[in-house]
Amino acid sequence: MAGAKIHTVLGAIEPATLGRALMHEHIFCDMYRVTGRLNELLNDEALAAAELELLRQAGGSALVDVTTSDLGRDPAALRRVAEETGLHIIMGSGWYRQPYYPPEIDKLPTDQLADIIIAELTEGVAGSGIRAGIIGEIGVDLDYATAQEERVLRAAARAQKATGAPLTTHASMYPVGLAQLDILQDEGVDMSRVIIGHCDTYLAQAYHLAILEAGAYVQFDTVGRNHMNPDSRRAEAFVALLRLGWKDQLLLSSDRCFRSDLRAFGGLGYGHVFTTFFDLLRAQGIEDETLDVITIENPRRVLAW
Ligand SMILES: [Zn+2]
Repeated sequence: MAGAKIHTVLGAIEPATLGRALMHEHIFCDMYRVTGRLNELLNDEALAAAELELLRQAGGSALVDVTTSDLGRDPAALRRVAEETGLHIIMGSGWYRQPYYPPEIDKLPTDQLADIIIAELTEGVAGSGIRAGIIGEIGVDLDYATAQEERVLRAAARAQKATGAPLTTHASMYPVGLAQLDILQDEGVDMSRVIIGHCDTYLAQAYHLAILEAGAYVQFDTVGRNHMNPDSRRAEAFVALLRLGWKDQLLLSSDRCFRSDLRAFGGLGYGHVFTTFFDLLRAQGIEDETLDVITIENPRRVLAW
């Protein structure tokens, strides 16, 4: 789209200047509020900046933070971290999944929920002037969309159509991205603006192909989360899709959201995708040119609106 920009927490940038990007991450995130597990609270700004230095050292220059308001999104803190690290940070908008939803999801009509997302994308979050650059992560909790989750998906879809912004989902451990696509398609969303997240938590190629054939992006974004799938299996499934010719619709990320994901706590940190996982892909014969398509060109295309 001519004139399209990528909208970061520091303002709009030319897509060509994005560089190498992680597409589904969290810098500050509060799942602790719901789960009661302290490991699931990221709220240390100095630590965040130090950890993100590892992304830079690994060749990264951009990160999509898909933390929504019900996951403790903090626009002002994201902006400070962007200033301190020099990274392009793209912020999310919308609501995560049912256990996290605020009461408004039941009380407001779908169109008013859409209007909240549209305002965050076009004007900024609650008077801060800091604009979201992507819709999501929009999730479902289990293997179906609840009534509330369907309402949020429809609101997200309407905001997507009104703005052209990309829409990224959370579909974990089940092939439930297809149920999300059904609802988005029903709303008339352009599938080339949709990213189905966490596809590598359900490594069935038929699932991935159904998403790709619908025209959406398949995102392997839990790289390094070896309790869900070992990276070896993840790499094998990813390479199989590349060999079938789908490089232009594949995305990568690592979904750092726990303290134990951070290097300071013994985790793999934000550099893992562009170092260890790249090496796994190279070992299977994937060229650097293809890695650039997946982590530079595809993010640049999908994030611009
Ligand atoms: Zn996530």
